[in-house]
This record gives sequence, C-alpha cells and structure tokens, in this order.
Amino acid sequence: MVKINENFLTMKKNYLFIDIAKRVKAFSEANPDKPLIRMGIGDVTLPLAPVVVEAIKKGADEMGVRETFKGYEDSGTGYDFLKQAVADYYGSFGVSLSLSEIRINDGAKADCGNITDIFGDDNTILVTDPAYPVYVDSNVMCGRRIIYADSNEENGFAAMPDESVHADIIYLCSPNNPTGSVYTKAQLEEWVSYAIKNEAVIIFDSAYEAFISDPALPRSIYCAEGAKKCAIEMCSLSKTAGFTGTRCGYTVIPEELTVKASDGSEVSLAALWGRRQGSKFNGVSYPIQCGAAAVFTPEGQKQTRQAIDYYRRNAKVMTDTLTELGIKFTGGINSPYVWLKCPQGMDSWEFFDFLLEKIQVVGTPGEGFGKNGAGWFRLTAFGTYENTVEAMNRLKKLFS
Ligand code: PLP
Repeated sequence: MVKINENFLTMKKNYLFIDIAKRVKAFSEANPDKPLIRMGIGDVTLPLAPVVVEAIKKGADEMGVRETFKGYEDSGTGYDFLKQAVADYYGSFGVSLSLSEIRINDGAKADCGNITDIFGDDNTILVTDPAYPVYVDSNVMCGRRIIYADSNEENGFAAMPDESVHADIIYLCSPNNPTGSVYTKAQLEEWVSYAIKNEAVIIFDSAYEAFISDPALPRSIYCAEGAKKCAIEMCSLSKTAGFTGTRCGYTVIPEELTVKASDGSEVSLAALWGRRQGSKFNGVSYPIQCGAAAVFTPEGQKQTRQAIDYYRRNAKVMTDTLTELGIKFTGGINSPYVWLKCPQGMDSWEFFDFLLEKIQVVGTPGEGFGKNGAGWFRLTAFGTYENTVEAMNRLKKLFS
C-alpha cells in the first residue's frame, strides 16, 4: 500500500489567505457599492521595464533561428552572461563572487524550499518569528525540529542569536517579510559568529535587498565578515524588477562553504546542491535569462529603479501617515512592507475587520506569520500611488 509523507498531516492549514479571501468576499457581496483598496498581497503591480521586455523578445527571436537556437543549457545553473551580470551587481556593493558560486533559478521560493534536500532531517532548524512561511513549511514537510527566535517590539523585530541555544540551520530574511526590518552589518556579524561557533549554516533570504536605500545597511550577508564560511544566500528578481510572473532568481553558495560528513570528510555544499539540481532541475529558459541580464545593464538599473522608487514613494505616504497618527510601525523605509501595531489594543483580526468595514482597506493580520505577529498588521507598498494615498486619507479620517 502506498504511504504518504505523514509530515504533511501535521502541517498547519494555511488559513491566513483563505480567511482573508472569505471575509473580503462576504463584505464585497454585502456591500457591492464599496470598492476595496487591497494592501495585503505581496505581489508587484508595475509592468516589466521596457529594456527587459526587449531582451526577452530578442531571446525568443534567437530561439526561432537554427544558428542561435538553444536546447538544454549545459550546466543548468545559468548562462555565464547572466552570472557575470549578477557577479558585477554584487561587486557594486563590495561583494566578490566567482561565477561558479552563482546559480540561476526560477525564483527564490523554490530554492528556499528545495535546499532542505541537501541537509539531514536530524538538524535543528531556527526560524525567526514572524517569518515568510516557506522556511517553516518546507522543514515541517521533512519532520524536522524547528525552534524560533522571537522578533518583537523589544528588539525592533530583529531577532538576535541566543548563545545558550543550539541550531544547525538558521533562516534569516533581511529586509524582512513581513516586518520590513533590516539587519545591520554588526547584527549579521553576530549571526555569522553564532553560526560558525555552532557549525551551523545560515540560509539568508535577500529577496527585498533592492529596497535598501541606506548605504550603511548590508544588501547581502556576504557584507558581513566570515559569512562565506557559513551562509547560503537566496535572492530573486521578483521584487527587484517585477519578475513575479516571469520567474528568475539566483542562489549563492560560496566555494569555501563546507560541512563535515559523518565520516569526517569535508563536503562542499555547492557540490551537494549542484548534484541535487543536476537531478531535479533543468535550468531557466534562455529568453528569461536574457531579460534578467537586462535588469543589470545601466539602462535596466535605471528603469527598474523607477519602479522601486514608485513603491518607495507609496511606502513614504504610509509611514508619514502612521507617524502623524502616532501609530507604531517598523519597515517602510528600506522595505516595501510596513508593519504596524494595531491601534487601540485591537488584535490583528479585529483590526483587519475594522479596516475592512470602516474604510474598505485590506491588509494582512500579523499573526498569520507567527506568534509574534499577534497584535501587528502588514501593509504593502506595491499598490498604485492613488490607492495608497486614498487608503491613507481614509485611515487619517478614521483615527483623527
Ligand atoms: N522570499 C521572501 C521573503 C518573499 O517574500 C518571497 C515572495 O514573496 C520570496 C522569497 C519568493 O519570491 P520568488 O519565488 O517570486 O522569487
């Protein structure tokens, strides 16, 4: 008889977005004359930059000509032209990477989940709470022990290591989804030193690095001393360049990142991941890699920056409003997420219903991201400027 992976039965149902959709649907049916402003979803809304579209079209044209047609990519880890563009991009913030350390993928979510394949199930996993749900879910699927580091109001939603607790694999996300907080270089160095002491590996999710405007804040964990010895980094063009529906990202595994096997031999994680991907992944399509490379050209940077600046302007409208109303928040400055404390002692769902009923603004209750999200609420800057302004005007009227 076939046996299922029973770990799936222990997984929490993903009620968050189902509950949101149900409440929104019920409200809309009862109030068809009251249009909603959606500020809950983490998807981008602006189209791809023209230079990216042109590069994808050119790549597609090449696929239609015998001389330039491409089948499977030999390595499956990405074309050198794109890896070189990524390496140069890292160089612009002071991180030196060789092409063999970069692996092109179809977005960060898959690698965040699939990386579990190269680690044993007897590892202790440390996740900061609240967190992007993939880190927990993909490890629950393997039946692993998960412990949490609290990100809360006291520590500015930037959980730091507890030296008395041991972990083998540590997930960090900065700028953070959902809290918008960003680790400083010194904080990352603390995590790196904890990881080295514990012979642990950090999986660093930098999907929102492009939103960092403060040059003092690190855009990569490799800005932290020693990180190449203990960290894997995952990034994506989804939020950087509007690739959520186009799909392209990159994972960095440094050459010097090795782990001891049970027989005492040093094993390269890059080699293990290469072996895993060689068996289960056949690369990203050529036209999409052409489009991705265009993001890193001077014109691509200029055009994609315009979209990021647009979202940043939305975030500024939001943070200005919250400041004016005296509502506590984190994020919104080096991040597209604004994480606010529900006013008047409301819990996250109460606040959700309150905003929906009173001003028809939809956000995301913080407790959906972990226990430390209780009493907090996530709004995103990915909407239109007009809707963001309107939503914030309604919020001002409601609370002033
Ligand atoms: N990491 C974080 C923190 C995210 O919020 C997201 C998407 O919202 C991803 C990774 C996945 O992005 P993608 O798979 O589109 O590259």
